[in-house]
Amino acid sequence: MKEIIEGFLKFQRDVFPERAALFKKLATSQSPTALFVTCSDSRFVPEMVTQREPGDIFVIRNAGNIVPSYGGEPGGVSATVEYAVAVLGVTDIVICGHSDCGAMTAIATHKDIKHLPAVAGWLRHADAAAAINDAHEHASPAEALDSMVRENVIAQITNIRTHPSVALGLTNGTLNLHGWIYDIETGSMLALNWESRCFVPLSEFSETCATPAMSPDRLR
Ligand SMILES: [Zn+2]
Repeated sequence: MKEIIEGFLKFQRDVFPERAALFKKLATSQSPTALFVTCSDSRFVPEMVTQREPGDIFVIRNAGNIVPSYGGEPGGVSATVEYAVAVLGVTDIVICGHSDCGAMTAIATHKDIKHLPAVAGWLRHADAAAAINDAHEHASPAEALDSMVRENVIAQITNIRTHPSVALGLTNGTLNLHGWIYDIETGSMLALNWESRCFVPLSEFSETCATPAMSPDRLR
């Protein structure tokens, strides 16, 4: 904790004065362009990896970059999605998984997590991905994990589309979805092409998008 406090003191002393104009502008309003949903894992820092400034991206972080389907009693994730889309008017939502994810490892390896009831309950929101992953053959445990990470991003893109604000934004053509996977060791990013369900390098295919194609009669 000492390092964290010292870091804050350094920020206050050295960094904040240099960025005072930005923080003054941000003091009373924000207009982030994207909602970024990612894992709580300490090794992935979305603002660093996307080179965004304070005020640029609205972030949800949780174990496994999960977005529960809409319905029942809405929780914090649902409320934050709704606020980002309906109030802040973000035009893009990124759901970003990552390599070596502990949550996805627990699912892929059928780890006994009965002693972690909150985690076990939370990861049920990835059951569709787990079912698909279990139905496939995997050459190795590492491949099974990578596959689970991919299936989970696809499942969470599916889940977020059940949220009314997201469904409306997609129908109106005002919202785009992106499914990404970050590799911690290489710093590379894969992006989901929704139509093919394939992940491709974002550096080579920067237009790759996970927005489902709308039938022509739904576009206006
Ligand atoms: Zn993770």
